[in-house]
Amino acid sequence: MTKGKINVSVENIFPLIKKFLYSDQEIFLRELISNATDALTKIQHLSSIGEVKGEIGDLGVKLKIDKKAKKLHIIDNGVGMTLDEVKKYINDVAFSGAEEFLEKYKETSKETGIIGHFGLGFYSSFMVSDKVEIITKSYKDEPAAHWICDGSPEYSLEKSEKEERGTEIILHISKDSKDYLEESKISELLNKYNKFMPHPIKFGTKEETIPGKEGEKEEKVTVDNIINNPNPAWTKPPADLIDEDYKQFYRELYPYQFEEPLFHIHLNVDYPFNLTGILYFPKISNDLNLQKDRIQLYQNQVFVTDNVEGIVPEFLGLLKGVIDSPDIPLNVSRSYLQSDASVKKITNYITRKVADKLNSIFKNERENLESKWNDIKVVIEYGMLTEDKFYDKAESFNLYPTVDDKYFTYEELEKKIKKLQTDKDGNLIILYAQNKDEQYTYIESAKEKGYEVLLLDSPIIPHLMQKLESKKEKIKFSRVDSDTLENLIKKDEEVISKLTDEEKEKLKPMIETAVENEKYTVQLEALDSNSMPFMLAQPEFMRRMKEMQQTGGGAMGNLPDMYSLIVNTNHELVDKILNTRTEKKRSSLIKQSIDLAKLSQNNLTGKDLTEFINRSIDLIK
Ligand code: ADP
Ligand code: MG
Repeated sequence: MTKGKINVSVENIFPLIKKFLYSDQEIFLRELISNATDALTKIQHLSSIGEVKGEIGDLGVKLKIDKKAKKLHIIDNGVGMTLDEVKKYINDVAFSGAEEFLEKYKETSKETGIIGHFGLGFYSSFMVSDKVEIITKSYKDEPAAHWICDGSPEYSLEKSEKEERGTEIILHISKDSKDYLEESKISELLNKYNKFMPHPIKFGTKEETIPGKEGEKEEKVTVDNIINNPNPAWTKPPADLIDEDYKQFYRELYPYQFEEPLFHIHLNVDYPFNLTGILYFPKISNDLNLQKDRIQLYQNQVFVTDNVEGIVPEFLGLLKGVIDSPDIPLNVSRSYLQSDASVKKITNYITRKVADKLNSIFKNERENLESKWNDIKVVIEYGMLTEDKFYDKAESFNLYPTVDDKYFTYEELEKKIKKLQTDKDGNLIILYAQNKDEQYTYIESAKEKGYEVLLLDSPIIPHLMQKLESKKEKIKFSRVDSDTLENLIKKDEEVISKLTDEEKEKLKPMIETAVENEKYTVQLEALDSNSMPFMLAQPEFMRRMKEMQQTGGGAMGNLPDMYSLIVNTNHELVDKILNTRTEKKRSSLIKQSIDLAKLSQNNLTGKDLTEFINRSIDLIK
């Protein structure tokens, strides 16, 4: 038997890297600036532990475009490389100097925030260049090096005259990629990927005014334009920040958002994984352009993506802000991400922090929470519906608004309505409306009886009610105009029927014949004589199933519209119907009464409405 090592030669792998490793050409700039930034972090670290003596100067990265010569320069004053290091780090594809550095200085470098680790980033520069040069001088007392490569595996490497410490990368931009010689394009990329990188990035110049000393004139000078903020808010300890800092950072992150965020959540852990960030509850806007601003994922202050699917729980998709974690594996598919145990931990942490923050706002500033509830409730309801861990925590702070703008927690609500709103089987009946105007008459009559009516109007609320009913024992949500309400009315009123059983037996078929073609179940009830003569009620169950179907709940085929027609046998009009001799007249009375019931529900439209109007005219003329 022979054992051996598969020999992957550069000839084979090089074209692959160029073509497939990065689906996105533009990331070459991010990679080169990350390398330069790493070089700066390294020199800073070496100086801090005394391995490099003396001044290390103002550290930074500088970009220059030479349009004529079709060159893009990326210059840093970091550690630089010796000839040998260029051979080792650059020529050996997939050998990461970043990983080697971390390994070598592992005692002291844990927190340095070194970015690189695959040893492939540099080669992305060939995606946009015909030729790449490196001119580099190490901090060590050795000659500088000049490396040139045209994208084939052949390169040249010789000594160079460069005297200052650091590295200059020169890209000879290819014809296909000449966009990258445009200032606007480079600015756009810097703004996308490098806006919060930890060392100053200089691109172009700007005018600055220096105020003159006593009596002297002020002075105008041209200075380098620094495009980034090296110390973004999320990297600072929460204790060092005030509310305004968070708002300021929101504006920095989303310069085109004019609405202020409602709440912020500062994320900050380093064990068992490292994650920092700030999430915001935005005011939900109807402007689709602004909705596009999403949570951004960074690694060591380098922008990676704003597609955080699989990392941030789905229900937090409406939130905005930043998360930064070097511990999220990104070179894998999204479906793998979701099953990855460490990512799962991160997802759970984010869920927990959001819940804890809401809970603390609830405890300490309840009024504030109430005043913003309508803007954030969708997120919370969606979270309760989809994440059981969130549900458990949210139970204590989820608020139930009433039609009169009062807000109850579940516990408070239960206490408040227990006495009046329990049906004969001991179920707690939670009454709600979805639309104050459409259900107005029903809301009013429920309130008159002393019932509390909630206003639950989010599109996903039917799903959540379903979940709450199955989680809690003996509760039923019931819309004010649904037929379950009857159970309650009967219970506390105990009204005696004015009609005899004989009369009832006569009345029922009369009405049934008049409404033959409609989908009503006729139900005779002895109600208060001041109540409406006829009422239409849709079974809560049917209506809710339909609503759930509209918002994507299991398919059940086409559910029919079904109504109960409740006839108040104690109403004068019902007497009149009973005593009307001609069938035509009787039928017209019944139809008129049903239409009035529909009208009160905002439910009379089209042909029915026209017929109603004509009949009414006949009646009064
Ligand atoms: P990685 O950054 O993942 O290590 P790269 O292919 O991006 O891999 O870079 C390879 C190595 O080349 C780096 O680890 C570093 O040692 C060296 N290098 C690249 N750019 C610079 C630079 N601007 N200054 C100093 N060293 C550099
Ligand atoms: Mg790199």
